[in-house]
Amino acid sequence: MRRSPPFRLTRYFSITSLVGLVLVTIVLIGVYRTLTERHLVDHEGRANADLTRALANTLWGQYGDFVIGSVGRTRADLLADPRLAALRTDVLTRVSGLSVAKIKVYNVDGLTVFSSDEGQIGENKRDNDGFRAALSGTVASHITYRERFDAFEGVLNKRNLIASYVPLRPTPGGAAEGVVEVYSDVTDLLQRQSTAQWQVAAAVVGALSTLYLFLFMVVRKADGIISRQERERAAREEEVRHQAYHDALTGLPNRAYFAERLSEAISASTRHGHTGALMFIDLDRFKIVNDSLGHDAGDALLKAVSARIRGCLRDSDLLFRMGGDEFTAILAHIEAPEDATHVARRILEAVARPVRVHEHELVVGATIGIAVYPGDGEDADTVLKNADAAMYSAKDAGRGTHAFYRAEMNRRAMQRLTLETDLQKGFREGEFSLHYQPRLDTATQRVVALEALMRWHSPSRGLVLPGEFIGVMEDTGMMTIVGEWVLRSACTQIRRWLDAGVPALRVSVNVSSVQFQSPGFVPMVERVLSDSGVPPALVELELTESLLIGQPDPARATIEALKALGVRIAIDDFGTGYSALNYLRHFAVDYLKIDRSFVTDIATNARDRAVARSITELARALGIIVVAEGVETEAQADFFRGIHCGEMQGFLFGRPLPIEQVQRLLDSERSSGTSQGMGSVVA
Ligand code: C2E
Ligand code: MG
Ligand code: MG
Repeated sequence: MRRSPPFRLTRYFSITSLVGLVLVTIVLIGVYRTLTERHLVDHEGRANADLTRALANTLWGQYGDFVIGSVGRTRADLLADPRLAALRTDVLTRVSGLSVAKIKVYNVDGLTVFSSDEGQIGENKRDNDGFRAALSGTVASHITYRERFDAFEGVLNKRNLIASYVPLRPTPGGAAEGVVEVYSDVTDLLQRQSTAQWQVAAAVVGALSTLYLFLFMVVRKADGIISRQERERAAREEEVRHQAYHDALTGLPNRAYFAERLSEAISASTRHGHTGALMFIDLDRFKIVNDSLGHDAGDALLKAVSARIRGCLRDSDLLFRMGGDEFTAILAHIEAPEDATHVARRILEAVARPVRVHEHELVVGATIGIAVYPGDGEDADTVLKNADAAMYSAKDAGRGTHAFYRAEMNRRAMQRLTLETDLQKGFREGEFSLHYQPRLDTATQRVVALEALMRWHSPSRGLVLPGEFIGVMEDTGMMTIVGEWVLRSACTQIRRWLDAGVPALRVSVNVSSVQFQSPGFVPMVERVLSDSGVPPALVELELTESLLIGQPDPARATIEALKALGVRIAIDDFGTGYSALNYLRHFAVDYLKIDRSFVTDIATNARDRAVARSITELARALGIIVVAEGVETEAQADFFRGIHCGEMQGFLFGRPLPIEQVQRLLDSERSSGTSQGMGSVVA
């Protein structure tokens, strides 16, 4: 982004003001000079005219005939005339002491009949403009400068003179009978005027300079303010730009910046014939940390991990945070794909090292997909899509690894897309059903509840288990509608028992975190309960433990609201998250389902036994009933009986089955008065 250069107010002000100052001074001097000269010429012209009139008044009577009669005479003739010498004497006498330097007299023909410079007598001035103007009655004056000038008193040097041609009119208002040319010496006057002119100029320059200095200070102050505002604006712009292109948490460039840079990197590699790689890095198990320890811990973890990844890259490589727990790295120049492998291994190792966040020692991992360009795509979109596909395939192969893109990976992305479409269609067309798995009271060995588990009977795929589609339903937003359907179906089943007059069992329904966190969840449960009219105590909702710890306050409020409706609350898969046992005190839960991963090795693993025992003891103290999930063997069942665990669920007692089959088992259990047969029939 190009920015226009800042406006330098002081500089422009100084230059324009100085130019203005000089121009004003020059114009002022010029105008002053012209005006004073014009004034001088007018003034001297009038003085010369007065002088001429005075001379004419006194001398015309005596010399008028000489002038009038001079027409046609020669120079020699004139010089020989004694009146000329007399006229000279008279004129000199009358002008002595005045500033007059020279006087000439012309007759009407323009012949010089008299001049204080005798050499000029006899010359003809007939064609002179001044002479002609004077002859027609007008005084004509002009200023002139002479290096050398023949004056009355002799030769003068470097003189400024005003020459006036004045009509000689012996009778007032009569025609001119000759012309007098008077030169007055204005050298001194001009000199004084010139001095005054410079004094005025100096005063003006002084005044303007003072004004300039004053304004300069004001402008400089303004310029300082403008510059500071300009700098602040630029800094703000830079900050906004930085924010737009960077992730606030890690400080890494973001997705917006990524697209630009990857396109650049791909075209550079095509131009220069070298190879680059794009890594798509996704953190494993990050969501658990975020959900169970809260966003602060999640943020701290992301910061630490992003710094570690950055540390595995060269300075020339670029790392971006794409959002959530996804990062990309552009390795602008690699010699061979193995280079990318080395980098990927380094990153995986670095990320896998435990991270201390607050008092927790957290272990996450990463999965990396790599696309090499050119080859795995000609444009940024394709390369990114392929690196992403490679990452998903690495995840499928068992997280914590890396994979290079292969063409068939896009097929998997396609498969997922088809799965999404099939799920939506399947749900619309009624391909989903619920299976029910019995839960037994440990002491009485009787079935006390059933867990409703979703099944998808896809015409093309066969029976599909929830593990394959729950995640997709959560991602696509289907889960809320499907979840409501599950609850409604379970309640319908309870209703049937009630309507048939057979003993109704409690039914537990799994609730996804997406569902639980949606604002319409509690009202939905209330609606379904009232629609079906089942006693709320027969409905149990299974929540995952991470929900309680991620955002404890809203979770507590939701649980309270559910409890107020009268339903039972269970914590499912307990022990798989980061939850601490003492959290349980804060939530009004009824059941705690110990995750199958603890149950599996319970017969052989002393640590698992210790955990199960302490969970049970604590729960009992809090009035919470513990349920052991996934009980498959008698040994496991014996252990839980031994620690007085409340309920048990597992293949040992019955697999999840369609309601008709479960019903048959329940009926036979009732007729035999025990559940013992159940396990043997179903398992
Ligand atoms: P879950 O709630 O922990 O359900 C228990 C899972 O363990 C069921 O798997 C069940 O078949 C399996 N199981 C029970 N006893 C044993 C045993 O002795 N051995 C072994 N190996 N497995 C046992 P399923 O039906 O595949 O469901 C998997 C998960 O999918 C469920 O785990 C639950 O989290 C989720 N799920 C199922 N139905 C729904 C549903 O309607 N809504 C939601 N949100 N989630 C559901
Ligand atoms: Mg469950
Ligand atoms: Mg479970």
